[in-house]
Amino acid sequence: MWYPDRLPDGFTKWFASYHWHGDRDEKTVYLTFDDGPTPVVTDYVLELLEKYRFKATFFCIGDCVLRHPEIYNQIITAGHAVGNHTMNHFNRWKTKEAIYLDNVKKASQLIDSKLFRPPYGKILPNTARQLRKQGYDIIMWDVISGDFDHQRTAASCLQNLKKNTTNGSIIVLHDSEKAFEKLKVILPDYFEYLRMKGYSCKQLKNTVATA
Ligand SMILES: [Zn+2]
Repeated sequence: MWYPDRLPDGFTKWFASYHWHGDRDEKTVYLTFDDGPTPVVTDYVLELLEKYRFKATFFCIGDCVLRHPEIYNQIITAGHAVGNHTMNHFNRWKTKEAIYLDNVKKASQLIDSKLFRPPYGKILPNTARQLRKQGYDIIMWDVISGDFDHQRTAASCLQNLKKNTTNGSIIVLHDSEKAFEKLKVILPDYFEYLRMKGYSCKQLKNTVATA
């Protein structure tokens, strides 16, 4: 599967009702972690965020929250934001709208947030409209780390992150088992890079609507 490391602003303007990045004039980066909470992996991420005093946003899968409520609570207690990533990681392009929306609703009973990220970044305009009517911000990204990609080395992911991170970037990472081996290599180095460059890392809010 091909995917662009960085989405150009020219492209994202076509889909301006989704959030692709924050303010380009602010030295702020929005780290996001998808597909948790996952034992050991999320703990690792939380510890490192704490060390750097960075805040992040965790797009949780409802089913994972159900299995690991204690880790979900740790995310909240540490002051990070959470977002809805559906109950069962549904792909809207392969799921009927009513079933999809119901899956978001199920997740919302466990995840108290009006931030929503569609799994695989796949959504359809009408579904997005329905969710916005319910008060959700649809959060996409401008930089994708590639940490989920088994054909890619950690060094390549890291290089991509450093090259493409800029003011207001929303970065996709994963606190999943699949990504863990890479995360352990990527995160310490990347966090150090962000600190060195003077970025502050903040959690997303419902008002990140600056795109
Ligand atoms: Zn996902």
